[in-house]
Parts: sequence; structure tokens; C-alpha cells
Amino acid sequence: MYDVIIIGGGPAGSTAGIYLSKKGYNVLIIDKEKFPRDKLCGGALTEKTISLLKDLGISGYRNVIDYETPEYGILWKNEEIYRGKSPYSFRFVKRSEYDSFLLNHAKKTGACVLEGNRVVNIDFKKREILLSDGKKFRYRFLIGADGVNSTVRKFLLREGLIKAERWRKNLANAVEIYISRKDVDFNKDYPLIILGYVKWGYGWIFPNRDRFVVGIGGLIDRNGNLKESLKLMLSDFFPNFRLRKIMGHTIPFGNFIEKPCYENVFLAGDAGGITNPASGEGIFSAQKSGLLAALSLESENPCGRYKELLDRYIYRDFKRDLRIRNIVYRLNSKILTGYAFKFLNKKLEKIVHL
Ligand SMILES: Cc1cc2nc3c(=O)[nH]c(=O)nc-3n(C[C@H](O)[C@H](O)[C@H](O)COP(=O)(O)OP(=O)(O)OC[C@H]3O[C@@H](n4cnc5c(N)ncnc54)[C@H](O)[C@@H]3O)c2cc1C
Repeated sequence: MYDVIIIGGGPAGSTAGIYLSKKGYNVLIIDKEKFPRDKLCGGALTEKTISLLKDLGISGYRNVIDYETPEYGILWKNEEIYRGKSPYSFRFVKRSEYDSFLLNHAKKTGACVLEGNRVVNIDFKKREILLSDGKKFRYRFLIGADGVNSTVRKFLLREGLIKAERWRKNLANAVEIYISRKDVDFNKDYPLIILGYVKWGYGWIFPNRDRFVVGIGGLIDRNGNLKESLKLMLSDFFPNFRLRKIMGHTIPFGNFIEKPCYENVFLAGDAGGITNPASGEGIFSAQKSGLLAALSLESENPCGRYKELLDRYIYRDFKRDLRIRNIVYRLNSKILTGYAFKFLNKKLEKIVHL
């Protein structure tokens, strides 16, 4: 019997594991993949993520920062409509490295980690999980940090605890490729946020030391084939680049579950839809919600406490950002976006980073 079983060793699961094992809980983290594993992602970290790592005493993170710059550009198609320099840096990581770093840290703080084993069944009554190799483990608390296609969430859905319709309506698709610096002649060494190719979403070009991460994402309900939109964007920015494979992944985009817990079962990160509804930034909210779920276990009413903490530290901002997205994406206008950044850039930089 474990005090806490965490399903998923991504940023949400590792962060919960780090906090809980430091506190002396007997923790098991299970992931279906063997690490280092890649995760389709832009790998952009904002200042608040760095603050969270520092607050948790997770040192050594600088070694996995691949690229850092305070500059950024906002584009309408391939026209730069705003160029900014924020007081806070954008940091870029490769997820295979960042996620391994966090999971190793969880191991060092005392969490048991089982890699390469998928959770296939959960018996809520017996408080028992079943793995793909037939092993069974019992828990006092279960944290589902198993990403956007969460198995734990699917079991809660079966129990009628989550609204399937709202979940589907706010799901986005994102497609992404990596372009080696050697293959292109491109000199913008700061992150670009690109509007105009997709509805209710945006494109991005993020710098790494050896490559550019290029992608596009938007609400599934509002868009057709995103691969075609990405191809169009690529032809404007990298006309001579020979495209091979486009990768895709869904991303929660406004479908955060108001109370992502049931008795002693909690959802954190993408599993609970806890991704920023305007920017799609999910690493911070995965780590923060993992931490909040972990903190809640110390309370007499863990589920109620988790809801309270989420409202205070994540959902209040998400609700503000939903309002911002409703204006920006609905207007879908080059001129108004340009004005918004010209006059509100300091405020927007704070919203993104703090
Ligand atoms: C194209 C794209 C670009 C993005 N860019 C950014 C960005 O630049 N910055 C940012 O902050 N966010 C970005 N995001 C969002 C971010 O990637 C996610 O929000 C983040 O990874 C969520 O972390 P997590 O720990 O909740 O889940 P994940 O990182 O998905 O980890 C879940 C883990 O659970 C494991 N798992 C799943 N099912 C099982 C099972 N049944 N049994 C055992 N293990 C299981 C998986 O193997 C995985 O390791 C992007 C997303 C996409 C799709």
C-alpha cells in the first residue's frame, strides 16, 4: 500500500512527487514510457515556472535551459506588428531533458518510480490500480497526472463525474515540427507568436540552440486541417525547407475541470484540462496543480482544499485569460492586435510571466 500513487511522470506528476516525498509520504510514480521520453511541446517556460522551481528547492534546472531571451515578436502572418523586450526572460527547454530532470529529482527526494508500465484499470472501491504487466498496487490517494488522454479522467467520466461535452468543445489540436538551424537561413533569435493562420489559436517559432521549434495550434471546433495551415505558414517563413513529418497532439484549451477530484482521486495538469486557455501554456499549470494537489492531501478535506487552491492560484487567472482570448481571437484583427501590444505590452508581459 502506497500513501500516494501518481500516474504520469511528466511535469505535473514529478512536481507532486517531489513535494510529497520530501514531506515523508510513501510515493509511487508510474509512467508508461521509459525516460528520457519526448513530449510534443514548444518547451517555453515563463518566469513563474522558474519561481516555482526555486520555491521548491529544485536546483540545477539551469543545466536544462537550452535557450534564453527576454525578446519576443508578435506577427500577423509574416509581418512583424510588435517587437518587445520584457523584464523577464523566456526560457526554452527540450522536454525529453526537462521531464527527465524533474523525474530524477523526484527519485532523489525518495519517490519510487516505475517506468515503461501503463495503468490499465482502476478500482476506486478497492483503491487499487492494475498495470499492463498484471501488477496491482493499492493507494490511499491517487493523482492522475497522465496527460491530455488521461486514463484516470476516463474512469471518472464513466462514474459521471466530468462533463464530456464541455471537455470536447474546448479541446485544441496542435501540430509541430523541428527545423535544424543547419537547414535554413533564418535569423530571428527570439520567440515569435504568429497570428492570422489559424482561428482561436496561433502559430509559433521558438529558438533552441540547434533548431527552431515551429508549430501551430487552435480549437478543433473552429479550424479545419491544421497541417495545411502549418504548411502555409512554413512556405512564408521557410520557403526552401523540405518538410518531412508533421507531429500532432491535442491540448486542453479552456476545458479546465472546475473540481478535478473525487474523494481521494485527483487530476493534475493536462489530465484535468489545467492549461492556460489563451496561450496554451501548460508546463507551469501542470507543475502548479501537481503541487496544489500534493498540498491538499495534508488537509482534512483534501478534495475541497484542492478546489479552493486551484481557484485561488490558477483558475482566477484562467478566467481572466478566457476573457482576453474572447476579445483577441474573436476580433482576429491585425490592426487591433498591433494596438493592443503597443499600448498594453507591459501589462501583457506581466500576465504571461507572473
Ligand atoms: C504542440 C504543443 C506545444 C506546446 N508548447 C508548450 C510550451 O511551449 N510551453 C508550455 O508551457 N506548454 C506547452 N504545451 C503544453 C504542455 O506540453 C502540457 O500542458 C504539459 O506537458 C502538461 O504536463 P503534464 O505533466 O500534465 O502531462 P504530460 O507532460 O503529457 O505527461 C503525462 C505523462 O503521463 C504518462 N501516461 C499517460 N497515460 C498513462 C498511463 N495510462 N499509465 C502510465 N503513464 C501514463 C505519459 O507517458 C506522460 O509521460 C504544448 C503542447 C503541445 C501539444
